[in-house]
Amino acid sequence: MRNIFGKKEDVFCAVCSKQLGRHRYRPAKEWDVSGLLCSDCHIDKGREFIEKQNAEQNAPDRCANCQKEITLDEDRNKPKWQWDMDSGLLVCKVCYQKRDVDHNKKINFCSSCNAKLGMFFYHPKPAWKLEGNLCRRCWDQRNRGDE
Ligand SMILES: [Zn+2]
Ligand SMILES: [Zn+2]
Ligand SMILES: [Zn+2]
Repeated sequence: MRNIFGKKEDVFCAVCSKQLGRHRYRPAKEWDVSGLLCSDCHIDKGREFIEKQNAEQNAPDRCANCQKEITLDEDRNKPKWQWDMDSGLLVCKVCYQKRDVDHNKKINFCSSCNAKLGMFFYHPKPAWKLEGNLCRRCWDQRNRGDE
């Protein structure tokens, strides 16, 4: 129970719970702190926030595919636009090569029977939920199945 002589607006620091007198500080919105702070915690929180911000800015780049930390320049590859990935992402060398091979396979081989596609290939209908392209034979077969 509050004693009747207690001041109505007793306020405590949101971090260390110290009772606040005349000196109380409002945290910056970005700090994600609700309530008021004593001067020590206000300084601490401010410093903490700046450190956190710096850490985020200096966070190492990671491969968008395998999450490997990118430290070597050879791992600093931008995905090809055909891959349908965010151009701001980076992929490591291994993933880049793998992705390249996969992509070439996808566009050069029938995704149903793996036959090499020549000049003529067919886009599967969206309803078939297939990636890549199809050879004529497989496309016809699928198409017939639809009817
Ligand atoms: Zn405090
Ligand atoms: Zn990778
Ligand atoms: Zn085929």
